[in-house]
Amino acid sequence: MEENKVRIQDDLYEAVNGEWLKTAVIPDDRPTAGGFSELDQGVEKLMMSDFKAFAKGEKRTDIPEMKYAIGLYKKVLDTEKRNKDGIEPVLPLLNKIRSIDTVKALNEAAADLLLEGVELPLQMEVGADMGDASKNIFIVMGPDIILPDTVYYAEENPAGAQLLALWADMAAKVLAFTPLSAEEQKQYLDDTLAFDKLVAGKVKSQLEWAEYFKNHNPMSTEEVAGFAAPFDIKKLLKDLYGEAAPETLDVYDPKAVREMNGYFSAENFGQYIHWAYVKTLLKNTTYLSEELAALGRSYQRALMGVASDPVLEKQAYQLASRVYAEPVGVYYGRTYFGEEAKKDVVNIVKKVIKTYGLRIRKNTFLAESTKEMAIKKLGAIEIKMGYPDAIRAIWSKMVFEEEDSLFAAMGKLLKVRRQDSLDDLTKPVDRTRWGMPGHMVNASYNPFHNDITFPAAILQKPFYSLQQSESENLGGIGAVIGHEISHAFDNNGANFDEKGNLHNWWTEGDFKAFKDLTQEMIEQFDGIPILSGKVNGELVVSENIADNGGMGVTLEIMHTLEKPDFQAYFKNWARVWCMKAKDEYVLLLLNNDVHSPNVLRANMAPRNFPEWYEAFGVTENDKMYIAPEKRISIW
Ligand SMILES: [Zn+2]
Repeated sequence: MEENKVRIQDDLYEAVNGEWLKTAVIPDDRPTAGGFSELDQGVEKLMMSDFKAFAKGEKRTDIPEMKYAIGLYKKVLDTEKRNKDGIEPVLPLLNKIRSIDTVKALNEAAADLLLEGVELPLQMEVGADMGDASKNIFIVMGPDIILPDTVYYAEENPAGAQLLALWADMAAKVLAFTPLSAEEQKQYLDDTLAFDKLVAGKVKSQLEWAEYFKNHNPMSTEEVAGFAAPFDIKKLLKDLYGEAAPETLDVYDPKAVREMNGYFSAENFGQYIHWAYVKTLLKNTTYLSEELAALGRSYQRALMGVASDPVLEKQAYQLASRVYAEPVGVYYGRTYFGEEAKKDVVNIVKKVIKTYGLRIRKNTFLAESTKEMAIKKLGAIEIKMGYPDAIRAIWSKMVFEEEDSLFAAMGKLLKVRRQDSLDDLTKPVDRTRWGMPGHMVNASYNPFHNDITFPAAILQKPFYSLQQSESENLGGIGAVIGHEISHAFDNNGANFDEKGNLHNWWTEGDFKAFKDLTQEMIEQFDGIPILSGKVNGELVVSENIADNGGMGVTLEIMHTLEKPDFQAYFKNWARVWCMKAKDEYVLLLLNNDVHSPNVLRANMAPRNFPEWYEAFGVTENDKMYIAPEKRISIW
């Protein structure tokens, strides 16, 4: 038995997680088990039991905004009403779309449709201006496509055709519930697919989106209006903002906007309307009858290889906790997150930032002037730990009536959110806003705020525990903290300054040296086979730079501990990435996710550092060995 065991020197991930992986069962309603997913399930279970008690009146909370979250939860559970209503609640909105018979009528209705969540020929939103991150800007880009990425539309991609057929099958079944005739249903579906194909030929691929600093393309409203005609974006902006209508727009997806005539014109206007009808219907199936909701989810499930839908109570909790994210996150944080842990983790963050600064000072590829700027940016990073102190005012506006259908309630709630987001345009950027709610098992860096967020829910074992050793915590949450900080200096973040403005603070030579290291990181991962696919080194480079930086800085801290346990450090790093997943899901992520597959995150980062070789006596005869000249450490 013993001799069959995978050696840690050959495969850290398998040696640490193999036993668990052998017997672990992926829950029917999820694409993955283990690691992040396991923590998420734990949070969900805990919170579902609280929601159940709230709904029955057995438990109370003093957070007033939770009242409506619980109300929404109950609406999902009220299947008697949902099933009786069937498709009815969404029909007025669908009929409104259907009645738009000219481009002129579309332009008249566009502002209203935008607030109702109907997709227009351009996507529009308000966000931080990368040119001056203290201000907000109106953002435009091409529409969303049906498949997960433009590459699926290539002639030589059989997976794309297969997925599209699956989607069309689901859409046809949902359309059968509408009052449209069979002939119309077919026409609407054909037009939707045709319009989607035109759009897919113009919008950015996931690989292009991954370089988000390139999204900043300010253009005058006048110029965008020229490309968008006959769609009248000037009228839309006037309807939304009156005299305050913006004169400059940020075009995130310049090709789609410049070549908009290639997918939207007076000639194929009818095709667009049918596309908008179908997309609006499908987007809302979740809020209709159980049958429609299940149909709507079936495509998404197939895409990820998920066997079945969550039970109704879970669906109810998932929707309520997503829609009321901030109040629910604050409830979770106040109830389940201790002050002691918060203080301890903030101290780890401070230590990581301080050590990161020392490493920048020692850095051999940067000139002093660049180091100064990097240290300035590092020092300006703000920490958001656990959950916010206060719930923002918008959440008290998120209300609905007792007698509203689930669809009507959701319509009201999403409209409030859309209006609030549009209203941001005339306000300064609110840097106190949190990127993630307290009950989410994740962490993030926001390049426009230059801040890092660690929700309460990730501050658990194996990431962090007051019961774990310091070495284990450094291999867990410590490395994650270093990872998020490194995003300030990855191939995207490096283009922004300490205020979150797109601003080049590098000397030419330094930036070239950094680019060369980035290229080495691309090559280290590029082409590694995973199931039937291969890693795209370019797609995942920013995350790999972040993992590399996170490990570098935490290993440096390890050397300052009284009794560092490097073996425990690396083992816990591998534990964090433990995941069993459906093949469909692994392949979906491989093509679209900017993160490397978990097994590679566990196994690639360590081999770049001498501590890995010393901790386990790894030599050139072991699989997890790479020659010293091939090892990369950027930050
Ligand atoms: Zn990341």
